[in-house]
Amino acid sequence: MIETADMTTMYIIEGAKRSLLIDTGTKCEALDEIVGKITDKPLDVVITHNHIDHAGNIRYFDEVYMHPQDSLVRMGIPFSGKYKWLKDGDVFDLGDRQIEVVLMPGHTPGSIVLLDKSINACYSGDAFGSGQVWLQLIPHISMKTYYESCARMEKIMNEQNITKIYCGHYPYLKRALDLNYIIDMKNLAQKISNGDTTDAKPYYMPFKTDISCDKPVSSTNKQAMIVYDSENIN
Ligand SMILES: [Zn+2]
Repeated sequence: MIETADMTTMYIIEGAKRSLLIDTGTKCEALDEIVGKITDKPLDVVITHNHIDHAGNIRYFDEVYMHPQDSLVRMGIPFSGKYKWLKDGDVFDLGDRQIEVVLMPGHTPGSIVLLDKSINACYSGDAFGSGQVWLQLIPHISMKTYYESCARMEKIMNEQNITKIYCGHYPYLKRALDLNYIIDMKNLAQKISNGDTTDAKPYYMPFKTDISCDKPVSSTNKQAMIVYDSENIN
């Protein structure tokens, strides 16, 4: 795990034959050299989604994997290398362990989760947030779509014995998220999707970004918080 000063988390998985870097962070000069000190295996680089705090340093690499639906996210991240497009079900074969790609739209259209069944874990980027998930962003994804992602994640965790979710901003919680967190998210998304926004409170963005709606609100359910645009749920 590599953490940067802006509370963003990258992960390196080293297998017998290859290594995988998950996300590239924002403030991390010479990330390629840092990764090279940690693993000397041939490296694949994947971003969980195309936001600046996850894709900000892709310029240090020749090729970067992402889901093509995230080319709809326009952040102007400099990159002269090659994008390699992923689809749901693709696998990174690291030799002794296989990392499977699962598409989980909501936070962005092409957010992915990476499953590592060898340690009963997955890497989720911002697909389910790090305590709170941001759905107020542009391009807008419906609450129903996010609900379906939560329901699918719950099913995968149950059927494939995934117990730990390593999120994209680990320092906020300092622990892996679990199945109960996903269930709390799913139930909250269902409630909002059904039009129940009675507990919605104004949400103040911690920084300025031009990809947020004007007046985001938040709703909570136990461990879960969803930030969204109450005038644009569907
Ligand atoms: Zn994000």
